[in-house]
Amino acid sequence: MRKSNFESFIRFGGSRALVQKPFGSPHLERKQDSQEAEGAVVEWILDVWSNHYGAVVQSILKTTPFEFSPAKLAYLDQASLRVDAEMVVLAAMEAEGFDLSSAEGERRAVMVLTNFLNQALQKAMGIRFYVWTTHHDTRVRDSHAERDGKIFRWDSPPESGHPAEDFGCRCYAHPLGIEGYWERVSEGVIAYKALALEPEENVDHMYLDSKSNVTVGIGTFLPNAAAAAALAFRRNVTEDLASEDQKTTEYDLLDAMTNDGNFTAAHYAQFTNLHLRWDEKKRLVGDHMREIFDALLGLFPYFGNYPQSVQIALWDMAYNLGVDGLSGKFPNFCLSIQDEDWATAALESHRTGIGEERNDHIRDLFLEAADEAAAAEEGNSADSEGE
Ligand SMILES: [Zn+2]
Repeated sequence: MRKSNFESFIRFGGSRALVQKPFGSPHLERKQDSQEAEGAVVEWILDVWSNHYGAVVQSILKTTPFEFSPAKLAYLDQASLRVDAEMVVLAAMEAEGFDLSSAEGERRAVMVLTNFLNQALQKAMGIRFYVWTTHHDTRVRDSHAERDGKIFRWDSPPESGHPAEDFGCRCYAHPLGIEGYWERVSEGVIAYKALALEPEENVDHMYLDSKSNVTVGIGTFLPNAAAAAALAFRRNVTEDLASEDQKTTEYDLLDAMTNDGNFTAAHYAQFTNLHLRWDEKKRLVGDHMREIFDALLGLFPYFGNYPQSVQIALWDMAYNLGVDGLSGKFPNFCLSIQDEDWATAALESHRTGIGEERNDHIRDLFLEAADEAAAAEEGNSADSEGE
């Protein structure tokens, strides 16, 4: 049963790229050896399975900021996972020509097994992203050195596969959850919060947006009086924290008005007695960014690999238009971002309904990234000419 499994795996391919490799070695023809090797692998995996399984689970759970749960692993079919692991290790042995009789061969088998488990368990836990990590030594192939520290997706293997899938590869896939991803892009988040709160761009009191929604800060929608009451509004006269009554009264007053689109936010200052401090507005901007972050990653999964100037500019577009608005109204722009074509993104980034100064600033952020990419490209071709 096991044998026919493996044969069909070799013949028709499994779910992994390993089987695509031309084996070319005489191993497969020598059936006797092949059978022996298979038996050895089955025995070896049975022997080391629980150790490596536990170690891989631990290493995933210990990844900061400690956001992963092993709960879903309870649903994994261990027996079929182990059969898959046997096939993967055996395929690597055939392709790379090692066996379990030497310490070196066993080391390679451990690496293949742990990477197989790492991938299978991360996927089972619902982890979508990983960070490609090399050994940072001279043996790392150039194509993998380029991937070091970059974000990849389990559902979208790069050329020649995920870490350790390619011949002799010693790279590793560090799990990246949404909180870890958020931490990775924190510098851009901080920079954008400051940009969003530049004085001319925001008011500190409640106002009606162009659709008569009660709003505060940088477009923070207040759906009801309770939402307003939950914020740290202060009284303009005394700077004291406003009472719930005062906040509710002011909300109700604005909620009863309409804005046909002719009034700016500043127009509503005359009706208000309360304001938010800068820190509170900054918190609201950060909260909203975190709220749209999942959707933003749905549109741009490799967001964290982009230059910081691009991240800041994208935050501005997504914050202003919403992620749906961005993908719906700016399809060419979104394509250019996915292609990492920053020069085209600069051209396609122009919005109506915001100031030209802001438009110019965002365009320049993309142009900055385009210039940097061009300079890096030039550096690369100069290098290869030198050799
Ligand atoms: Zn590698």
